[in-house]
Amino acid sequence: MNPLHLTPVQLDRAAGAVLGSAAGDALGAPYEFRPSVPDDVAIVMKAGGPWQLGEWTDDTSMAIPVLRALARGASLDDEAVQGGIVAEWCDWARTAKDVGIQTRQVLGRATDASAAAARDAARAVHDATGRSAGNGSLMRTGPLALGYLADGREAALAASARSLSGLTHFETDAGDACAIWSLAIRHAIRTGELDLRGPIDVLPAGRRARWHELIDTAERLHPRDIPGSNGWVVAALQAAWAAIVGADTLAGVLERAVRCGNDTDTVAAIAGSLAGARYGASAVPFAWRRHLHGWSGADAAALDADGLVKLAVLAARGGANDRDGWPGGDRFATPRTGTLVRHPHDDGVWLGDLRGLDRLPADVSAVVSLCRVGADQVPQHVGVHHEVWLVDKPGASNNLDLDAVFADTADAIAALRAEGHSVYLHCFEARSRTPSIAAAYSVRHLGVPATRALAEVTAALPHGAPQPWFTEVVERMSVKEQA
Ligand SMILES: [Mg+2]
Repeated sequence: MNPLHLTPVQLDRAAGAVLGSAAGDALGAPYEFRPSVPDDVAIVMKAGGPWQLGEWTDDTSMAIPVLRALARGASLDDEAVQGGIVAEWCDWARTAKDVGIQTRQVLGRATDASAAAARDAARAVHDATGRSAGNGSLMRTGPLALGYLADGREAALAASARSLSGLTHFETDAGDACAIWSLAIRHAIRTGELDLRGPIDVLPAGRRARWHELIDTAERLHPRDIPGSNGWVVAALQAAWAAIVGADTLAGVLERAVRCGNDTDTVAAIAGSLAGARYGASAVPFAWRRHLHGWSGADAAALDADGLVKLAVLAARGGANDRDGWPGGDRFATPRTGTLVRHPHDDGVWLGDLRGLDRLPADVSAVVSLCRVGADQVPQHVGVHHEVWLVDKPGASNNLDLDAVFADTADAIAALRAEGHSVYLHCFEARSRTPSIAAAYSVRHLGVPATRALAEVTAALPHGAPQPWFTEVVERMSVKEQA
């Protein structure tokens, strides 16, 4: 497999390893250092403690320098690149709201911002305290696999995971956990399958049986019931795996992870890196995704959910844009047609194509994009821009959870309308994706029967011709129960 030939669905999963982790981190942050949460109490994205709504913590912020190095096409096998990451961590730690205890000790002790100095400091902290297997290196390992997706790169990924872990965490358990988890992320991105046992073969023979037993135990328990403090890397990995095997959606995994109590943001960030690699960035609900933030550097505005997805796609592609200049491009070619019409069932929703962005009605304050959009193509006055990953291909070549993506996008439009926004919903040509989602919104939120919704939305668009693999999703769709 050549990273430049990853399918759209594989790229969605690669982005999921980053976005899923950030969502788990932000979901878990207000629950940190508290008791476990019983099943009958809802887990919600909210502000709490020092954290704003949707704000991620050190877990995601420490992963970002790794992600950005890969997105530049740099090799993590290079000591100088690792040194650059240490330097970014030191800069970040100076103003960060929260830095893990062990990481703070190591960064404070390092004599300079180099990989060698960090490793020496990690060793010194270990020698002084007698232990250094906190969960702080596993929590940031999510992006690493994106640099090792090509065939035959398993051993290099395991070595790199161990090496990056050792920058702050000297103990073998931390390195082993990062190696296993990173290999499982790589496998999930490539195949869509979850397998935590296969990666154990990368460990020396004498350490494998213990990890098999730890995973067996995790699969029998709820994350709440994993023995030992989940500040310890082994218990954190077990809790994350217990969350993953006990739920069948990304949101379900993250909510289950947060129920563990104590180091909730980190367990959910770890779970989100692997579950995101399985379910894809498209599985992160808009209601969470829109609030994600937390980078404090000068480029904070660019590091929202869409920004993380773009960096992840670049990282998975070895730093290269595709032939059209995606995802880094500022502007993509538009169709000649220039479709821009009102939704037949809601005057506050406009439907159109990519070119419509160049002549948006002045009242439009939110844009929902179902195709690739350049950074400069959405007008400045638009307050909310939601980019939806929707692959217009049939059956086997499209294993996104289409029903979930349709429902979440329809709900996003409804939420924006309820907040008073006028919404522009568009794809490249307004042919298949736009009428399909527009009809889904009519069915789910406006009570229009599916057959009529599809017919009337399609008739309103000059080139409307939704594909059958989309219309069948709309036909399966049910009316959303109003809360
Ligand atoms: Mg944290």
